[in-house]
Amino acid sequence: MKITDKLADNKITISFEVFPPKTNDAYENVLAAAKEIAYLKPDFMSVTYGAGGGTSKNTVKIAKELKDTGVDTIAHLTCVSSTKKEVKAVLDEIKEAGIENILALRGDIPEGSRFPLKDGYMYAYELVEDIKNCGDFCIGAACYPEGHTESANKAEDILNLKQKVDSGVDFLTTQMFFDNNILYNFLYRIREKGITVPVFAGIMPVTNSAQIDRICKLSGTYLPSRFKAIVDRFGNNTAAMKQAGIAYATEQIIDLIANGVNGIHVYSMNKPEIAESIMKNLSEILK
Ligand code: FAD
Repeated sequence: MKITDKLADNKITISFEVFPPKTNDAYENVLAAAKEIAYLKPDFMSVTYGAGGGTSKNTVKIAKELKDTGVDTIAHLTCVSSTKKEVKAVLDEIKEAGIENILALRGDIPEGSRFPLKDGYMYAYELVEDIKNCGDFCIGAACYPEGHTESANKAEDILNLKQKVDSGVDFLTTQMFFDNNILYNFLYRIREKGITVPVFAGIMPVTNSAQIDRICKLSGTYLPSRFKAIVDRFGNNTAAMKQAGIAYATEQIIDLIANGVNGIHVYSMNKPEIAESIMKNLSEILK
């Protein structure tokens, strides 16, 4: 089923994200974890894609296996390291697997790479155009409530986002954020610029302190003092940090839903126990 059709009846929609293994050895373990998440019956699951293109086969394979368990899936697709011909081949695979939803991404530019490739892509909107021409897919794309790291400022980033959406995007999913006011402000700004597609709020349950150091280094995400206090107090206690991280993410989600944000995307990081705790914490709310 297409994600846009799920959104049509205006109900709360929850999705969980998994990522494919870097090596084939780990495939079965990742698939087992992903299936455990699928059995929780989220509205859909997304499977990420390695920007280098190496894991493309596993992305489509996992998305297909999850779909066969009865959960709708979306396959991510990045284009930074692929030619148009290579992208076309992956689109054919996706189509053949019966997957109707694609998250169209450029991907981070790999250090030292020859970017853009000859007959490749510069920005995600070009990929959106190609997907649109290739079949009847529901197309999602990424957005950045705090601005993308390469953008000079948020206003410029939103103008670029508008171009991407206008090229055929059906819905957006945000980069993670830890202060809901950042999302509310972003939604106000994009709606003002005429971006009207549904937006899924990306929520990351942080369950260890190393994870948060990595996140901040990569994306410059703002950490509210309330969140920093949790990491300072519980960062060295694995079990306590996990419990606190899940509670923080749950509170964020409840506040979002209470304020009318019906699309919630959880960066569940192949961890069924995290997905399960979140579903349990929301059980009455999702009824
Ligand atoms: P774009 O939309 O192309 O934007 C990239 C930059 O270019 C932005 O600064 C934008 O403002 C600018 N820009 C866009 N269009 C123009 C234009 N016409 N002129 C000038 N500037 C322009 N990465 C992976 O490798 N695999 C994944 O599976 C994956 N999944 C993700 C899922 C989500 C929900 C999010 C938020 C990110 C994900 N990423 C993933 C990371 C993403 O690939 C990177 O953040 C990447 O740097 C940008 O990708 P994009 O699709 O947003 O690019």
